[in-house]
Amino acid sequence: PSLKTSEHTLLFQTSFVHVLIHDSVGMNGRGKAPFSSCRPKVCIVGSGPAGFYTAQHLIKARPDVDVDIYERLPVPFGLVRFGVAPDHPEVKNVINTFTQTAKHTCCSFYGNVTVGKDVSVGELQQAYHAVVLSYGAEGNRSMGVPGEDLAGVYSAKDFVGWYNGLPSCQELSPDLSCETAVILGQGNVALDVARILLSPIDILKKTDITQPALEALAESHVRRVLIVGRRGPVQIACTIKELREMVNLPDTRPEMVAADFEGVKDAVKDLPRPRKRLTELMLKTAMEIPGEKEQERRNNASRVWSFRFFRSPIEIMADPDNKRTAGIRLAVNKLEGSGDGARAVLTGEVEDVSCGLVISSIGYKSLPIDPSVPFDSSKAIVPNSMGRVQQAAGLYCSGWLKTGPTGVIATTMNNSFDTARSLVEDMDSGTLDISAAKPGSQSISGLLEKRGVKPVIFSDWEKIDSVEMSRGEAAGKPREKLLTVEEMLQVARK
Ligand code: FAD
Repeated sequence: PSLKTSEHTLLFQTSFVHVLIHDSVGMNGRGKAPFSSCRPKVCIVGSGPAGFYTAQHLIKARPDVDVDIYERLPVPFGLVRFGVAPDHPEVKNVINTFTQTAKHTCCSFYGNVTVGKDVSVGELQQAYHAVVLSYGAEGNRSMGVPGEDLAGVYSAKDFVGWYNGLPSCQELSPDLSCETAVILGQGNVALDVARILLSPIDILKKTDITQPALEALAESHVRRVLIVGRRGPVQIACTIKELREMVNLPDTRPEMVAADFEGVKDAVKDLPRPRKRLTELMLKTAMEIPGEKEQERRNNASRVWSFRFFRSPIEIMADPDNKRTAGIRLAVNKLEGSGDGARAVLTGEVEDVSCGLVISSIGYKSLPIDPSVPFDSSKAIVPNSMGRVQQAAGLYCSGWLKTGPTGVIATTMNNSFDTARSLVEDMDSGTLDISAAKPGSQSISGLLEKRGVKPVIFSDWEKIDSVEMSRGEAAGKPREKLLTVEEMLQVARK
């Protein structure tokens, strides 16, 4: 039964403490069902696309379910906020759907709660009928080459986090005083980073990129970005949208190595459609003599981007004077086999490239958050079948934690819906026992209170959102993000 009376609303406004006094209501005071009812209680760990899409499907399929989302940061939406490039605002429209889910009477958001530290997965399992792990892939694949810890070497994860306002990356302050940057990896994230490094500042200043990043990029000396991949043009991992944006980026010109495209023209006709269109665009950019207008545009461009194919990093070299990055040694590869399955093998040749900035964009990886949860370290995922965590009844996973860190938001949506379907099937079939009442957020709120952890509920996030929007408006941007957890909490608690 809903407890949405004005009396309760009044009580709930002062929220967390009152819940403890008034123990038949949930933490957010939205009038959640009391402990005594037998509503199935599910909690989700992580509020990125996986968390929200899992919640959305659960609520739709089982209107009797209560879904609580626990999030480490005081702000929701995961990589939609901290990963998606600032000049891709249209991608962030999914936030509107997530907001509808968060505001649904069956759903509650508890930010500022780190599962595995503030509360264990075991404690969540005690309190809920099912726990869905959707905490993404926050680790970083390392290159494993000498020199990767030098000043001037960054992971794309940190670099993206820096310009997108991820609190833990704000100290990065990357040194952009060099002329050449090398990005290792040729996926969409690599292209995002290249585009941000080379975009005219007039474009960036109309986005929600952070003010410190905007200022640093305005002062940047980077004029040349090499995007390096170990295989060839036919194996490149980006999508056509991102490539087209590079090709059309104002004030830049492409600089390709014609020899890299040998035989590619003949291979194009047999490629599957999306790869065919991508390869055709690359060929056109690299090999065709541009029309007059495009030639003029390229002649006037002050910045250059280039794909370097068939190269793997073997060492980052330091300037002996200041121990900063001065260059990178690349092994020259050749391909064995063809198509997607082609393997890069070393030729024994090497090439040195001078550069002051190296950004490695070779992938994210999930990390274990709780020793009680099965974890496959070789694949860096939670082992599962259709989202059911193996040998762990009542435990599910979705998103990048389930599949590994590949795919766009739509892919994450589909795999999260699949997990929710598995969970609903288990409830319906009785495989998951939901007959006994569970306390849900009520018992977790007590634990968190004892541990001095104060969750941020969705209406608190809306205060942060509104401050960010109005600061953005004043600066002619869609949003000016708050950059520290402290400031977020301060605004949330106002
Ligand atoms: P995440 O989005 O990472 O969400 C995980 C959430 O869990 C985070 O909010 C995190 O704070 C939280 N969390 C972590 N640990 C804990 C814990 N211990 N306790 C509680 N909460 C925790 N896709 C597109 O379609 N278009 C794009 O333009 C695009 N750009 C991208 C750019 C970058 C740089 C990256 C990395 C990805 C991009 N993607 C894009 C892909 C998209 O972001 C992913 O498909 C999607 O975010 C994966 O969702 P997720 O929920 O699994 O992970």
